[in-house]
Amino acid sequence: MINPETPVRELGERALLKHLRSRVPSGPGVEIGIGDDAAAIETSPITLVTTDCLVEGVHFLREWAPARLVGRKALTVNLSDIAAMAGTPRHAVVSLCLPPDLPLWWVDGLYDGLLERSAETGVTIVGGNLAVSISQIVVDITLLGQGGDKLMRRSGAVPGDLVVVSGALGAAAAGLKLLAQGARLDEDGFLHKTGVWTESSARAVTHCLRALLDPNPPLAFSRALAEQDIVHAGMDLSDGLSGDLRTLCDESDVSAWVDAAALPVDGAAASLERARGGDAASLALHGGEDYQLLLAVPPDRLDALRDVAVIWDIPTTVVGEFAPGPSALLLKKGGSLLPLTAQSHDHFRARPATGGEPATRP
Ligand SMILES: [Mg+2]
Repeated sequence: MINPETPVRELGERALLKHLRSRVPSGPGVEIGIGDDAAAIETSPITLVTTDCLVEGVHFLREWAPARLVGRKALTVNLSDIAAMAGTPRHAVVSLCLPPDLPLWWVDGLYDGLLERSAETGVTIVGGNLAVSISQIVVDITLLGQGGDKLMRRSGAVPGDLVVVSGALGAAAAGLKLLAQGARLDEDGFLHKTGVWTESSARAVTHCLRALLDPNPPLAFSRALAEQDIVHAGMDLSDGLSGDLRTLCDESDVSAWVDAAALPVDGAAASLERARGGDAASLALHGGEDYQLLLAVPPDRLDALRDVAVIWDIPTTVVGEFAPGPSALLLKKGGSLLPLTAQSHDHFRARPATGGEPATRP
C-alpha cells in the first residue's frame, strides 16, 4: 500500500503506471491492454473515434470538483459524443499530464471515477500515457465506439423538420454560477457546501451542481432513434442550444427558429434564477454543458419519437422548426421573430478560468 499523500514526483512514472495498471480490469474485445507499446483490440466494421480533454483552470478547478467527479466527467463528455453518432462506446485510452507535486490520492480519485463510469457504460480502458506538466492537470481521453448501420449526423436536417431537444436545459449553467458562489459537492456527489444559498435551496443546488459536475447524457436513446429512422440529423448539446443549433444549421444548410416559451428550462435552475432575479430561459438557450440531444425530426415521425422516448424514459420537447437556408437562427418571442445570435463557447476567445469569475466549459 503506497501512502496516498506521496507526490507523483516521488513515486515516479514507472511505479505510477504499475499502480494504475493494477487497477484497470480487462474487458471484451481486448487482445492486449495496458502495458505494451500499443493496445490490440477487436473493432467493428465501422469504428467511431472521438477525443476530448479536461484542462485544469479551463474546464475545472481542483477546489471546485472532487477528483472522482473529474474522472467521471472526463469519460462522460466522450460518451456523449459517441452517443450523438448513435454508437456504442467500447474502448478508451487515457492520457494524463500531471504536475509533479500532485499527490497520489488525487490520481486514484480520478481513476475511481473513470473506472466507475467505464463499468457503468461497458467501456474498457486499454492504454494511455503519463507525462509531467508544469502546473496544471490535463485529462485527455480518446474513446472508440461501435457504429451501427445508421449513424446520426449533423447534416441531413431539411426545412419543415422539427427542432427537438431531450431532457431539460440550463441546470449545468446554473451549477457553474453556484460554484462561483461557493457551493460544493463532496466526492460522492452529495452537497458539501450551499455557498450563498440557504438550506431550503439544498435540493436545487445539489441538482444543478450534479448536472455540471456529473452529467448524465441519454446514451442509448439515439441508437434507437437512428435504427428506426426517426431523425434526419442530431448532435449532442455541449456548447449551448443556440451555438449547437447554429452548428447543425451550418452542417445541414438550413435555418431554424426557436420558440422561447417552449424551451424545457430545468426546474431547479429556474427556481434559483428566479430567486436571484435572473433569466433562466437564457441559461437554457446559451448555457452549455447540458449533454442532451438536439434532433431534427420530420413531423410524421414525431409519434414514433415519443414512443421510443417513453421506453427510454427520456423527456423530449419540440422547441422550433427548421426552415430553408442559408444557415441562420430566429427566436420567437411574444408573437414576433427576432434574430438570434449563437453564443457559442469559443476556447480561444474565452477568458481563462484563473481568478475572477471563471468561465469553464468544453
Ligand atoms: Mg459533440
